[in-house]
Amino acid sequence: MEICTIGGFEEVGKNMTAVKVDDDVFIFDCGFFLPGIIELQETEKIGYSLSGLRRVGGVPDDRILDELKWKDKVRAIFISHAHLDHVGGLPFLLHRYPDVDVFATPFTIKVLESLIEDSKIVANNKLRMVNSNSVHEVKTSNGKVKVEFVNATHSTIDCSYVVLHTDEGAFFYALDLKFDNHSTLGAPPNYKRLKEIGEKGVKAVVIDALYSSTDVRPGGEKVAFGLLEDAFSKMGRGADKALFITTFSSHIERLNNIVKIGQKTNREIIFLGRSLAKYVLSAIKVGKCPFRENVKIMKYRNQVDSVLKKVEVDRGKYLIVCTGHQGEQNSILDRISRGDSVFKFREGDNLIFSSSVIPTEVNIEARKRLDAKLRKMGVKLQVDVHVHGHGSREDMREIINLLKPEHVIPAHGTQAQEEPFIELSQEFGYKPHETSHLMKNGDVLKI
Ligand SMILES: [Zn+2]
Repeated sequence: MEICTIGGFEEVGKNMTAVKVDDDVFIFDCGFFLPGIIELQETEKIGYSLSGLRRVGGVPDDRILDELKWKDKVRAIFISHAHLDHVGGLPFLLHRYPDVDVFATPFTIKVLESLIEDSKIVANNKLRMVNSNSVHEVKTSNGKVKVEFVNATHSTIDCSYVVLHTDEGAFFYALDLKFDNHSTLGAPPNYKRLKEIGEKGVKAVVIDALYSSTDVRPGGEKVAFGLLEDAFSKMGRGADKALFITTFSSHIERLNNIVKIGQKTNREIIFLGRSLAKYVLSAIKVGKCPFRENVKIMKYRNQVDSVLKKVEVDRGKYLIVCTGHQGEQNSILDRISRGDSVFKFREGDNLIFSSSVIPTEVNIEARKRLDAKLRKMGVKLQVDVHVHGHGSREDMREIINLLKPEHVIPAHGTQAQEEPFIELSQEFGYKPHETSHLMKNGDVLKI
């Protein structure tokens, strides 16, 4: 087995790994690098070109597969979940893999379809919808191989660990990793199956090591629910006070909890913004949006403006869920804060950030500017009403215990963020360069 760590091993973003067994290559994930994309947004107003994306490092550099002569041997592409750092690059690279099928869970496929539509790129690849906790056959050069999607809990719905079963043992792709035993939407982690796969033999695992330096386990979504209830209880009341909340658009479970708690305010709940509409409509299409009857969704500028006009005159009537938690350009919050909206925040209006700032320079600066403007307007801000979706050291120990892999490869961070995992793995007897591997983008490991 040879493993090429293409992207996401030196940064948070553009995750992509290729595995070669005999004469067959399999790709796991193909994501965006968001800071690169933001840079591009400022220079290329209409769509993105692949050359532009390559220039800013916005997509994984899969040209390594040409160098290795692996590109024409790709038999399938597997996507672990619907986050952009796992699926966002695929529309732009798909044409390089003609006739190769893409496998992912239903929500992920719907999000991918809408990304392909947005990109205006035409691809002939078959998108194959597979359920979590199911096994599928993939044709190889001289037979078949089995791929399994195992249910995982993270911070969007329909997440999976992807397992390639080979004669040499399984290749286990554990991105992104977090164990939430009291998930409030969807199934809990499939410990039983993880253990069985471990007993059968795992050759290598690529593992989400983003928080391998911390022992503090992130709370589950039940904890986020409690934080939200608390935040709602602390908002300034009164019929003349607006109530806005913002979170990750792909976080359907969180949105569901916001709606559950929000209903108790007896306000009409309206979702505003394109990216919220994209993910919620994808969830509706696959029957995984429990709150669909309880909210209105407004996507287009004229619809959004007409809602904001109503909120301006009847502030206490609505609960607005909107985009802009990272201070993104042209998000709803960005527009309101710049005065580019009929709605103006006033002293004592409420805004809850059910999110944390993604720790990149671009995001930190954008949020700083946004928060300052909002505070100047007198908005009562509650920030970090959130638990994140990546496990800590204890989650990593847990998965090593379950899978007992021969080789471990940390991923999903900078080298400095991944390095503590190498140290942790020594507790289990893994040896650096022999059985634990700190890999860079474009490295190949033969095991
Ligand atoms: Zn993720």
